[in-house]
Amino acid sequence: MAIIAADIQWRKGAPYSTLFNEFYISPSNETEQNESEFLQLGDFKRRWQGLSKHCASFTIAETGFGAGLNFLSCSDLWLNIAPKSSVLEFFSAELFPIDKAELAKILSQRPHLRNLSDELIKHYPVPVAGIHSIELFQGRVRLHLMFGDANEMFSSISQSPNKEQAHYNRRPVDVWLLDGFAPTNNPAMWSPELLATIASLSDQTTIALTANIDQKKILTVSKNLQSAGFLIQPTESNGPQKLRLKALFSGRKHQQLELDNSSGSTQWHLDKTVRPISTRDQEVTIIGAGIAGCTTAVALAKRGFKVKVIDRHPRAGQEGSGNSQAIVYPKLSPRDDVLPRINLQALLFSSRYYAPFWEGGLGNQCGVISLPGNAKIAEDFIQISQRFSGCGDFVQLIENDELCDRSGLSLASSIGLFFPLLGWLPPSIICQQLLKEHGIPLIHANIDHFNHQQSDSRWHLFDTSENLVYSTDILVVATAYGCEKFEQTNFLPVTQLRGQISKLPVGTRTKSLKTIVCGDGYITPAHDNYHSCGATYNKGLFSTELRVQDHEMNIAQMGHTDSGLGDALENLDATKMDGRANFRCTTKDYLPIVGPVPNFSSMLKDFGFLRRDARADSMMMGDYLPNLYINCGMGSRGLSYAPYTAELLATQISQQIPSLERDLIQAMHPARFLIRDLKKKRL
Ligand SMILES: Cc1cc2nc3c(=O)[nH]c(=O)nc-3n(C[C@H](O)[C@H](O)[C@H](O)COP(=O)(O)OP(=O)(O)OC[C@H]3O[C@@H](n4cnc5c(N)ncnc54)[C@H](O)[C@@H]3O)c2cc1C
Repeated sequence: MAIIAADIQWRKGAPYSTLFNEFYISPSNETEQNESEFLQLGDFKRRWQGLSKHCASFTIAETGFGAGLNFLSCSDLWLNIAPKSSVLEFFSAELFPIDKAELAKILSQRPHLRNLSDELIKHYPVPVAGIHSIELFQGRVRLHLMFGDANEMFSSISQSPNKEQAHYNRRPVDVWLLDGFAPTNNPAMWSPELLATIASLSDQTTIALTANIDQKKILTVSKNLQSAGFLIQPTESNGPQKLRLKALFSGRKHQQLELDNSSGSTQWHLDKTVRPISTRDQEVTIIGAGIAGCTTAVALAKRGFKVKVIDRHPRAGQEGSGNSQAIVYPKLSPRDDVLPRINLQALLFSSRYYAPFWEGGLGNQCGVISLPGNAKIAEDFIQISQRFSGCGDFVQLIENDELCDRSGLSLASSIGLFFPLLGWLPPSIICQQLLKEHGIPLIHANIDHFNHQQSDSRWHLFDTSENLVYSTDILVVATAYGCEKFEQTNFLPVTQLRGQISKLPVGTRTKSLKTIVCGDGYITPAHDNYHSCGATYNKGLFSTELRVQDHEMNIAQMGHTDSGLGDALENLDATKMDGRANFRCTTKDYLPIVGPVPNFSSMLKDFGFLRRDARADSMMMGDYLPNLYINCGMGSRGLSYAPYTAELLATQISQQIPSLERDLIQAMHPARFLIRDLKKKRL
């Protein structure tokens, strides 16, 4: 998972890539010229000044992030002239990221960008493969830094492996900055394969720019661009050595590059109804003011939608998200399956998301220590630490003395994983603050059912007395297991799973606890004279009454995790203990359910052929209910998942390019169960 960092040498006072034999910033400062070349060539000033206030975003995609100089120059101009209500979405791929300290040194050579570089460096992600989405500059720019091979990364964010559907029902990239190292030094960045992927994410309004092409290579680059469907526009040369290119996408792709590698029923996640690009004046209503609903509300409000939240409680965060202390729970794996990849990306995303809350004094970013509990898990921990070597800011394998120092407790485990960026938060306060800070109204009502009326193309929501509570253009169900109640979503296989946490009084031996410690269960550092310790799993139990045996179970779990911790929790009286019980919404594959709601009966009919042949090749697309979405199934990790799934859902609703790989989106897709069940003849 850790990715190899760029190998940089300083030559003549400038950073030089030993792998690509080229300067990141040339000693003659011609690189600075390139940065402004891009701005001129793209005519960004005129385009951005003229952007309509209704335009929610502008998307730039770049093939080599390097030291982020193009990103910073574009952001600088954007912040100065673009409408304040629009967001610059900047996707950039980088296979060999520059180490943070080196990046700071390089960027110090651009003093005019100082403020912007300081913020970039502060939020620069750990060197872990995958997509890191970072909101910068008061949310006016979203950087999607894709650590990995450019072709693989851009292919992974397209809608379909079939290039014809790469940006189906979705906005294209507006401008491509082709700025990898020169073609002689890094041919992969100019390959026909990558340019075909670039073409697939473009439409007739897309332009591609390059400012640094060697005379000798200009013909090859022009030819490859033309083969991919771009028309080269005449531009003036920018010096005797380097040439610049501007190309407009024509939509006509070279025959050989029209790859169709769709296999089986991989198109089920696409909506067969062609949808016009959504507009920001549309109204979105979310049922459910837990952490899933509130993070979704904010992600949509930031994209300009008019958002309202409805809940059966008068205040947000009163059910699953109502605990006073919940932890951002780390669960990594030495394997590369989708579940651990989603867990990893969600953890990285949510730790960035909650940083301002922690900085503002809510909860505590005290770090989390995960203890193995048995030899098999200890072996996994060692493999995990090897896979994440070089990512010590995110996870470190620590041994007993350090475990005791860091945790402040005398622990017996010989090893543990330490996550310095994680901590605990009060989820109900987070929910309330999210709505308040973004001015999102909460309507108090218990929704019994809803239906879509063709006459006005809106969803109409009713309470148990058949009163119309509200009507809306777009509806999001974020009611956790409450989705079982609605006719449109009750096919989803979710389980209402009770859990109880115990409030343990602070003892003489536990008062020194400095970090969260978790294993079979978890315990937090003292807060308001208590430690939160949890949690139990009680299937088939539907009461929120506290149970003594569950308090005992919580304490026992900590003893199983570590005998030293067990000793520190001796002599607690479970009969006098306080706590809280509520319900999780779990799924069979432990992943959340996020995305558009399928039309169950028509999908069953359309994809019935999968019962006969699970591998049948088909270009069939799915049938989805108009403007109905769901975000639920957070299981035991709502705090980590919710900000991440909210962001995904907001990009889907606003038809933007998401910052998640396609296989991860499909793994959380609401239609996955029905496709799986058809293939296994369970339906
Ligand atoms: C004991 C316990 C301990 C936990 N500890 C942790 C932890 O440490 N870390 C962690 O990440 N996760 C933890 N979890 C899990 C976490 O709490 C959940 O994953 C998360 O709260 C789910 O958020 P949600 O928004 O999906 O659901 P909820 O918070 O349950 O929100 C759903 C909302 O929908 C509303 N609603 C439902 N139906 C209707 C309707 N018909 N009309 C109107 N409103 C409706 C409800 O009132 C509720 O407010 C714990 C869970 C439990 C039970």
